[in-house]
Amino acid sequence: MPITGRARLAGVVGWPVAHSLSPAMHNAAFQALGLDWVYAPFAVPPERLADAVRGLAALGFVGANFTIPHKQTVMDLVDEVSPAARAIGAANTLVFGDRTTADNTDWSGFLRSLRDVGCDPAGQRCLVLGAGGAARAVVYALASVGADIVVLNRSVERSAALLADLDQLFPAARLQSLPLVALADEAAAHPYLVVNTTSLGMVPRVETSPWPSDVPIPADTTVYDLVYNPLATRFLREAKASGARAVDGLGMLVHQGAIAFETWTGVAAPTDVMYKACLAYL
Ligand code: NAP
Repeated sequence: MPITGRARLAGVVGWPVAHSLSPAMHNAAFQALGLDWVYAPFAVPPERLADAVRGLAALGFVGANFTIPHKQTVMDLVDEVSPAARAIGAANTLVFGDRTTADNTDWSGFLRSLRDVGCDPAGQRCLVLGAGGAARAVVYALASVGADIVVLNRSVERSAALLADLDQLFPAARLQSLPLVALADEAAAHPYLVVNTTSLGMVPRVETSPWPSDVPIPADTTVYDLVYNPLATRFLREAKASGARAVDGLGMLVHQGAIAFETWTGVAAPTDVMYKACLAYL
């Protein structure tokens, strides 16, 4: 399908941005559906972010994704921030128009990816390892469906801050923060779901894992690693070896993109095509 003079525009803004899978994923989806759309990468340093947001709007972009290090600061540059993005403290998707709006699709993408693998955390004990930006989206998602959540992080001040921000929003969920040393007891209590939101295991530190080697991984647990580069992290390999179900982070990446795609185009995203396009680059 040729790109015409009527092509609609979207893109991703990051610093750096060369590693992003989003251009391959979105352009494959546009092509599969025969949509006259283009998705481009933009490497923008923090000091040019405001110019870039104004520039995209002036050029008639329909929307854009924002990635590290812009997910927080971009919220100060728009007319409206969704309640989810506000609560999570980060936005990854903008829609330009009379009013420019910012939303977060990481949390909803995570929930959709859980649904894909038949995982329903409502009312279930879930362990979240880490308390950074990705953890905030995961805890928001799990709390929104009424899960019973324990956040374990190296820095307890960071997990306490995360809970303080999200706790009162979801009265039906149970949220607590425990020090990392509590992991052995929590694992022995057979959690339904364990989610790694730390960067441990990601390239280049592929031999690291958030799970201590002396703590058995329960076989009746689903272990979800947000890391998708590599897909088979050491944590997931060990989880599989102990009989647990292992889920990698590519599903979340694809679904956060699919939700942005649907917001911009109004068309259901071809997630299988998007998934394959990402796999080709990993
Ligand atoms: P972040 O805000 O920098 O948070 C990093 C987290 O990792 C913190 O909890 C940090 O603990 C922990 N950590 C780092 N090094 C550690 C170590 N040596 N020992 C123990 N804990 C350590 O990063 P992020 O944005 O949340 O991203 C985290 C990961 O999620 C990355 O691998 C990213 O690629 C992935 N991610 C995936 C998706 C997806 O769609 N699949 C989406 C978003 C993010 P402290 O607080 O103690 O420093």
